[in-house]
Amino acid sequence: MPVKTIDYQKLYNITDMQTPLEDDCGKLCGKICCRPDKNNTLGVYLYPGEEDMFTKEEDWLCWEQRNPVEDDFPASWSNPVYFIRCTKPCPRKHRPLNCRFFPLAPHLLKDNTLLLIYETLRLPYKCPLIKRKIPLRKDFIDTVAHCWQELLKDQRVRDLVKMDSREREKEGKHPFIVRTILPQ
Ligand code: SF4
Ligand code: SF4
Repeated sequence: MPVKTIDYQKLYNITDMQTPLEDDCGKLCGKICCRPDKNNTLGVYLYPGEEDMFTKEEDWLCWEQRNPVEDDFPASWSNPVYFIRCTKPCPRKHRPLNCRFFPLAPHLLKDNTLLLIYETLRLPYKCPLIKRKIPLRKDFIDTVAHCWQELLKDQRVRDLVKMDSREREKEGKHPFIVRTILPQ
């Protein structure tokens, strides 16, 4: 499958006003996912080309260029991959995709069925949405599902999601499924 260019502006536009709950979920936990942990390891990777949505001069971000081989990305990812950490609260409309999707993550079954699940990564904090499996807004789930259908058209992203999915299965994790999208 050829590499496709992802229209990040479109994905940012459709996720701009989306929130997992009617109310601000940050009130449940004091916005713990936006605060540095004690080793300051908390941050997010950007998807290929997503760095162009930023000026790299944002005063709320710290940038790192990482080697995809050393960080266990699939072979299709080219060097570098960008990892960003927040030094203070972001202007919401500029938050990266991974923050827009949280707490949902994609899981691809071997028959290409896409599942949206609550994130299973080990995190240095407890997200009440994940811990208590709080039901999320339908329009939030719809939008995240649509974004993943778009992102998965890019072979690099697809390789990453497949790799993470196989890893999750190998570890015997049983993710909590919030949406099943059958292959078209
Ligand atoms: S940790 Fe979970 S509940 Fe708290 S702000 Fe982040 S997404 Fe919302
Ligand atoms: S970009 Fe915004 S939403 Fe994401 S972790 Fe930083 S402060 Fe939180």
